[in-house]
Amino acid sequence: MKTTVINGNPGRRFFTLIELLVVIAIIAILAAMLLPALNKAREKAKAIKCLSNQKQIGTAITMYLDSNNQFFYSPSVATASEAGDPANGMNVMWSVRLKLDKYLPTYNIFYCPTNTITNDLNCSYGSFYTIVSPNYPNYPAVSMKNQKYAKVGFSKLALIGCSWSVSTQKQCYRMIFSGDITSEPYGRPFLTHANQVDLLFADGHAAAKGINELKPLYCPQIYLTNPVNIGSAADRSGSFYYKL
Ligand SMILES: [Zn+2]
Repeated sequence: MKTTVINGNPGRRFFTLIELLVVIAIIAILAAMLLPALNKAREKAKAIKCLSNQKQIGTAITMYLDSNNQFFYSPSVATASEAGDPANGMNVMWSVRLKLDKYLPTYNIFYCPTNTITNDLNCSYGSFYTIVSPNYPNYPAVSMKNQKYAKVGFSKLALIGCSWSVSTQKQCYRMIFSGDITSEPYGRPFLTHANQVDLLFADGHAAAKGINELKPLYCPQIYLTNPVNIGSAADRSGSFYYKL
């Protein structure tokens, strides 16, 4: 290899252009190998943080139920642009209710780390339509004492999850498992964690579920007193959102 002699100093050596290019190429190859692994680790960390958030929310919901004779919290507000104002007798959104009643210290917990939308709703998780209240005269309140829920099994009863709404992100606070995604603005299970959605179940555990695992799950709906089987093939084929 050629040694460049400058100013009569034979011990001093510089890289040739070719050598520099080789070094740069090696660094680029190493970076290309490492970056996907780093991104994967970052995504994994977000999924774990999401599960942690949901478990904390699960503890808060349990405490709320214990304080309210096992009835669920107040319903979502009628319009998603409002978070609700309890001072004016309005129903408030579920996340607002849990925060206002001091079951959770901060709204940050109500955001999936992959969906940090900024809106006035204080959450990007969707609560399934358990959020029924006697204040809504047309809809009966939902109680965890409902025998049918126990029959379904609390470990299969999904309460909240990562949510996405196609029409407006403001609607992701309420999540359903079925229906026409093109016309309904409601949030849907958002398969944002490596094609899985993190879900909190009524027994307090949180877990990531793939699209095929959602089939046997049940969720209570707002208009019904019975839990609804979400498992129709048509629903599954059209109602879930993958990470955009
Ligand atoms: Zn999530």
